[in-house]
Amino acid sequence: MLAVVGAMDEEVKLLRAEMTGVSEDSHAGILVAKGDYKGTQIVLAQCGIGKVNAAICTQMLVNLYQPKSLVFSGVAGGLLPNMQVGDLVIASHLIQFDIDLTAFGRRHGELPDSDRMIQSDPKLIDKTAEAFDAAFPADDGGPSVMIGTVVSGDRFVEDSKTLRWLQREFGALATEMEGAAVGYTCQLNDLPFVVVRGLSDTANEAAPGDFKSNLETVCQNSFRLMDQLIPALA
Ligand code: SAH
Repeated sequence: MLAVVGAMDEEVKLLRAEMTGVSEDSHAGILVAKGDYKGTQIVLAQCGIGKVNAAICTQMLVNLYQPKSLVFSGVAGGLLPNMQVGDLVIASHLIQFDIDLTAFGRRHGELPDSDRMIQSDPKLIDKTAEAFDAAFPADDGGPSVMIGTVVSGDRFVEDSKTLRWLQREFGALATEMEGAAVGYTCQLNDLPFVVVRGLSDTANEAAPGDFKSNLETVCQNSFRLMDQLIPALA
């Protein structure tokens, strides 16, 4: 069983539409669809926005569905100047950027007794990159893919100062609101995971407007990748 998670309706609805033999359930207010996705048994959940929702959902899926791996698919704000809306980022590492125990000499994002970097599963990263290549053949003018650090915090980033700080402090490619919480929960449960994000905005002053106007189209890029990835994880 593969767990597939998104935060918002737009991030899960295209995948949900391709599922067959579906049974639906609701746990802790989270809608879960279990069924077949082109030959792979999956459980698809819409976790809601933010790290708390993401952690609750991930632990619930672990306990109730015992998945063998988990893929999170959603949108994010890009942090590098050359990034385009629609580009995809595969998180090799995730950090909770708003954990702040610097008062005790720790680095931003660092909790006692754990590394601030949470690692995606290397094999799942490879499979996701292969799925990108299959979904977007090099010569069709499609989006780019980047693999690197993604940061998560309970805040929609919409200013150049914060985006520059996130880039410099964490070496991050993108910022969002769930990935590190999903990753942290998976890590505690020894569950291999990967987080994939399409860029809906560039986390600057234009981000709220960009997010709204790009959400649907960016989710189509993530969907094309996931449509290759999920059958490859059967
Ligand atoms: N539409 C919502 C708010 C969306 S919050 C409302 O009605 O209130 C943004 C969502 O997209 C989060 O799930 C987050 O993971 C992601 N995201 C996209 N761009 C982001 C950015 N610049 N900063 C933080 N999260 C971002």
